[in-house]
Amino acid sequence: MSIISKDIQKAIALLSNEELVAIPTETVYGLAGNIFSEKAIKSIFETKKRPFFNPLIVHLSSVDELETIVSEVPEKARILANAFWPGSLTLVLKKQKNIPNIITAGKDTVAVRVPNHPVTLELLRKLPFPLAAPSANPFNQISPTKPEHVERYFKNELKLVLDGGSCKNGIESTIIGFENGEPIIYRLGALALEDIEAVVGKVAVKNKKEENPDAPGMLDKHYSPSTFTVLTSDITSEIKKYPTKKIGVLAYNSSFTSDEIFTEIILSKTSNLHEAASKLYDSLHELDHLNLDIIIAEKLPEIGLGKSMNDRLQRAAFNN
Ligand code: AMP
Ligand code: MG
Repeated sequence: MSIISKDIQKAIALLSNEELVAIPTETVYGLAGNIFSEKAIKSIFETKKRPFFNPLIVHLSSVDELETIVSEVPEKARILANAFWPGSLTLVLKKQKNIPNIITAGKDTVAVRVPNHPVTLELLRKLPFPLAAPSANPFNQISPTKPEHVERYFKNELKLVLDGGSCKNGIESTIIGFENGEPIIYRLGALALEDIEAVVGKVAVKNKKEENPDAPGMLDKHYSPSTFTVLTSDITSEIKKYPTKKIGVLAYNSSFTSDEIFTEIILSKTSNLHEAASKLYDSLHELDHLNLDIIIAEKLPEIGLGKSMNDRLQRAAFNN
């Protein structure tokens, strides 16, 4: 029997009983638990096989709850929260004392956002506690953007994937921390850098683990298919390097169909970066289930969401 269902009452019952539920958001599906239940939070790490140094994002139903979770809100954090919540922006701020260390990997900051999905907003409004929710995939694997992706990963571990359809944005939230009151991007994501800068001015990006010990979990290899994956700006030359292999191509806006490739997915024939982002992980899931020898992914234009997608694809293709 499928664990996918729209039964929000069942989600409330499970979460109130310190159990986990996969929830829809506009970015990717999350593996959610009560932030104040040690049992639930431990079970998130165990289910995902996620290392404890990798902190979780707290999900709230409204910006009005922010002060129950964080102790300081710099002016630019307030401006960003008002501009983009509910939405795909996570803020890393000084935590309140009652936020358990296991959620923050022992740090004195906590990551928090208000997701923009009607089902999960309703769920959060009905629950008397916020939800911690990392992406609902085993550690390092491709994030889920459809309920079926989660079911495939966790049908034996979970009782419920709350069905909210396909994730509209399809890529994780953009994470922003603060140094001396100034915003710093820790992770590029579903909210484009340009949109953020339009509101608070120029923002530094520190999304490599070498340059930012403050953002644990920025791993070189992440978001990975099990199939060997390469990222290139020149698909045609890359295909020629693997004459005997079963190749799947992930292209941006145009076709490379030839006898040398087994299959191809085009992310957006109209060169729409939003459409491309919404299809990115679903396409990787699809290619990863075709028993290919190699996935050749095309680098996206380095603007807007293209930057965020290139970040994910670089980590997917790292060190194979
Ligand atoms: P995920 O939930 O899989 O989207 O990953 C959440 C990411 O948020 C982690 O890998 C961290 O990089 C980041 N994060 C969460 N909490 C903090 C924090 N307190 N300080 C810095 N980064 C954080
Ligand atoms: Mg993740």
